[in-house]
Amino acid sequence: MELDLGALNLKNVLDHSLVGVVIHAWDTSIVYANPRAMDLLEMDYDNLIGLSVHDSHWHFVDEHHRRLMVYEYPVNRVRKSGQKMINEILGKVDDETGDVRWFLVNAYVETQSGASETKGFVVVSFNDVTDRQSLFSYEHILENAGDVVIVTEADSVDGPFGPKIVYVNRAFEQLTGYSREEVIGETPRILQGKMTDEEACRRIREALEKKQGVRETLLNYSKSGRPYWLDMNIMPLYDRNGEITHFAAIERDVTESVFNSQQLERRNTELRQIKDSLNKLVEERTRQLQEANIKLEKLAYYDALTGIPNRRCFVDQLEKLLGFCRRHQYVAMVGILDIDDFKHVNDTHGHAVGDEVLVSLARTLAQHFRVEDIVARLGGEEFAFASVIRDKESSETVCERLLAAARKTSIALSGGDSVSITVSIGACCLPPEQVCTIEASLNCADEALYRAKRSGKDRYEVSEAGK
Ligand code: GH3
Ligand code: MG
Ligand code: MG
Repeated sequence: MELDLGALNLKNVLDHSLVGVVIHAWDTSIVYANPRAMDLLEMDYDNLIGLSVHDSHWHFVDEHHRRLMVYEYPVNRVRKSGQKMINEILGKVDDETGDVRWFLVNAYVETQSGASETKGFVVVSFNDVTDRQSLFSYEHILENAGDVVIVTEADSVDGPFGPKIVYVNRAFEQLTGYSREEVIGETPRILQGKMTDEEACRRIREALEKKQGVRETLLNYSKSGRPYWLDMNIMPLYDRNGEITHFAAIERDVTESVFNSQQLERRNTELRQIKDSLNKLVEERTRQLQEANIKLEKLAYYDALTGIPNRRCFVDQLEKLLGFCRRHQYVAMVGILDIDDFKHVNDTHGHAVGDEVLVSLARTLAQHFRVEDIVARLGGEEFAFASVIRDKESSETVCERLLAAARKTSIALSGGDSVSITVSIGACCLPPEQVCTIEASLNCADEALYRAKRSGKDRYEVSEAGK
């Protein structure tokens, strides 16, 4: 069966419609409202019929919550322009609660056949879309957000003038000093400058070309050339078909924290430098201390004037040498060597020349002995030595050689003269079974020395311990 629309009971259809329909006469007075309209406008038929928009106490707002003037109401707009109004969002404000009921509104002029348009009716139909319409405006949030928001087109990313800016919010205008009129259609590259990190720009471009989101910290410049750091989070925006058509960049001014972290970095570098130089200082001090210790040890174990071991060192080493001989059944020899008439040298040539004699003799003695032997200055003009020898005869050979070496010690004087010396030596020979204490061995050598002096000097005496 074919449907004859003209024969349909239109009122019946409207009565059952879920779309609210109000029909206004040309003077805006309502001549018809279907049940759904009454329901949505929360008015009954009697109150609605005959009511003109001027008499109504309705308050309408647009989707930005801006209150509409009566001449902007759908019926008046359509009356004035003659144009249809298609799918516009309009809110009806509840004066008591302030709640807004959102309608998707369509309106047009319905002319009865034969009548002029000015005599027509204005048909306004509306749907409740409160559930779909947010309770708040996203744009309002965007506009008033503290962060900068820039929307660009997703194509022409790599072109010289792309990507094109299609939206910026108020925070953008405030931060950059550019008005939105100045930047719409431009590329965000106008915000970059000579210190902008090219590497970061390349990463952003690459991500956008791949239609991916990206996050970077980038240096931008305001219209007046003031640099600022942005933490920018760029994300793709999809259309209804799931195609990426735009990118939105949410950008936060992080100049202060970048500045702070740069300062922190600088401070850390300074601290590192201080630490490094402190370490160097500590190293230097440690080295100096070690040197000082070596010097101290030298002072404690070595004779300051001649540089050879002193009595203390001699005693330490003699102990080891005697122990060694005792363990391995070797013969030890301990000797004391004293310069003859040294007082006379001092008295005749001065103390300094006496010192030179001491230094020279010490050098001769040091060269004379092997490393495993001991030679030391006991004090004054008295030296001591100790050595491992084969037998008593060997000790005599050692003494002979020492006497000869001492006689060769000569100090040149300024007038062409020179000072020569002789020494006397007392030695003690210690066979393995007689190896005794340091004190006893030194006493033994001392007694031998005494005998050498008594019997004319420039000679040696060797005693055998225990005899
Ligand atoms: P003898 O042959 O009996 O050993 O007589 P001597 O003059 O060598 O002995 P004496 O003990 O009478 O004198 C030793 C001198 O050595 C006295 C002292 O001034 C001198 N003397 C001691 N230590 C040093 C020194 O470090 N430098 C100098 N120049 N002289 C010193
Ligand atoms: Mg002496
Ligand atoms: Mg002497």
